[in-house]
Amino acid sequence: MQSLYIPHLLQRAEKTQTILIDDFIPGLDTLTPFRGTLSIRHGGTFLDVKVKGETIVTLICDRCVQQYNHRIIINTSEIIWLDKNLSLSGIPQEREVSLEDLSETLSPDGHLDLETWLYEQLSLAMPLRRLCGKECRQPVSNYDQNTLPIDNRWASLESLKSNFS
Ligand SMILES: [Zn+2]
Repeated sequence: MQSLYIPHLLQRAEKTQTILIDDFIPGLDTLTPFRGTLSIRHGGTFLDVKVKGETIVTLICDRCVQQYNHRIIINTSEIIWLDKNLSLSGIPQEREVSLEDLSETLSPDGHLDLETWLYEQLSLAMPLRRLCGKECRQPVSNYDQNTLPIDNRWASLESLKSNFS
């Protein structure tokens, strides 16, 4: 996936470019390629970027430490502001510009890095709490097995049996 030269959008019908994606996203460890649609509309002073699609990732369960597959579905959009003052020559030397600021505001004659944008959207969609499913059971540790209390009902049954013998 190549980065998009923003002025090219203005030459397109409805100033919109739609891209079909069926590809692995570098940096994201997914089981299946990401399949979906990415559309970028030039709104004059902003870009309206939308993505819809899904992929499957292999995660490790927080509780039982087993691997499991999880489907990630995204349907999201973001407005990215275009700011003339951001063209590289226009940034005053004394002004500090963090990468975070640049990801939300782009120069109107710059590029939009589609791969990075998509990577960020998918990263945000990853579950915070990773559980393999409702059936998940925490493995019983050795410590727990050794300290199980003796069931008193069985103890009384044992003494009852000894009475008959
Ligand atoms: Zn689990």
